[in-house]
Amino acid sequence: MALTPDAPPVSVGVLREHGAGERRVALVPEVVGRLVRDGLSVVVEHGAGEAAFFPDAAYEAAGATLGDGSAVLAADVLACVRVPDAGLTASLHRGQVVVGLLALGGHAEEAHALADAGVVALDLALLPRTLSRAQTMDALTSQASVAGYRAAIVAAEAFGRFFPMMITAAGTAKPAQVLVLGTGVAGLQAIGTARRLGAQVTGYDIRPSSADEVRSLGATFLQLTSTPAGAGEGGYARELTDDERAAQQAELAGHVARFDVVITTAQVPGRRPPVLVTVETVAAMRPGSVVVDLGASDLGGNVEGSVPDERVVTPGGVTLVGAGNLASELPTAASSAYARNVAAVLRAVVREGRLDVDADDEVVRAIRVPPAPDTAIADPAPIEGATA
Ligand code: NAD
Repeated sequence: MALTPDAPPVSVGVLREHGAGERRVALVPEVVGRLVRDGLSVVVEHGAGEAAFFPDAAYEAAGATLGDGSAVLAADVLACVRVPDAGLTASLHRGQVVVGLLALGGHAEEAHALADAGVVALDLALLPRTLSRAQTMDALTSQASVAGYRAAIVAAEAFGRFFPMMITAAGTAKPAQVLVLGTGVAGLQAIGTARRLGAQVTGYDIRPSSADEVRSLGATFLQLTSTPAGAGEGGYARELTDDERAAQQAELAGHVARFDVVITTAQVPGRRPPVLVTVETVAAMRPGSVVVDLGASDLGGNVEGSVPDERVVTPGGVTLVGAGNLASELPTAASSAYARNVAAVLRAVVREGRLDVDADDEVVRAIRVPPAPDTAIADPAPIEGATA
């Protein structure tokens, strides 16, 4: 990212995030300092880092300038966490680059607004996870890891008993029994955190390769007999058939009721999250049990009855936590990791001090929307069940 003599530095803008409940910020002062030393200029909207505990003064000390929204929107590259709403996008200019966890597959209106404005969107939600070169850019992983940690903390906080075994003069408390359904990045982090809090933990996933990962964390792997292995392409899970899903739900129902805490993280890329815990299964759980549904969103979640960003106590005394955006609840850690992912993307598209979004670069090719210069946007792969 060395600066070309006489060329104006490539400017990077950081907006204050507008999404409801969003506390993360796309760049943090430490990373801004590195970008400025590399020859970029960074303009940060007043208060952009406030909710993540990064004050304006820290950005200034790192070499950024502070500005209002319009100054930020004029930058060559706009770094954001979530997709800017279509109103903001209207003031962007042709050739500008927007980098973020845009999830354009679920945001058709914003995707079209960006394409209409001639903006090049680099959607980190499309990043190929298995390319080793892309690992430093892998915001899905960094944010899932934060969310998984937070899920265990939220569960412990909502649970009316201890997670660890407690031996006191007043008697002995048994350790909490925790079940984690879906043991990808977030699930493994939830397992590790629940174990560190002293719970006895069991994990389950339909990808057979995850069993060893679960056991390596000192947890027990739950082996279902009714559901065939569900490994799909690229290390992800495949979607189960209706019959497989029904069999899985029925067999899981027999296990779930003996756990105090259930944390669900199951996802299938581009699809609605699978329902793993039905209303009947929740009704069979003991009063005081806690279920944290990390997959809860407007598309539905892994747990029937969970509501995104809400905590519901069922008539049977089970607390359902619909955990919509858990990474945002740990905004300092989530933003710090995310900023390093964004900086890695910037390193790939700023060469010798010039903005150069190379359409032949395999990473750029995978995350760029629209895919090539002057190509009208094809509807980005929609998430099944999403509305525009
Ligand atoms: P994800 O968020 O897509 O899904 C979470 C978990 O849910 C996955 O483990 C998946 O197998 C599981 N799941 C889906 N449907 C299920 C069902 N019906 N029942 C039970 N479990 C179900 O996954 P992720 O956390 O993004 O990870 C996906 C894969 O990518 C994993 O294999 C992970 O190790 C891999 N990965 C690799 C890299 C890398 O190589 N750099 C980085 C990140 C993730």
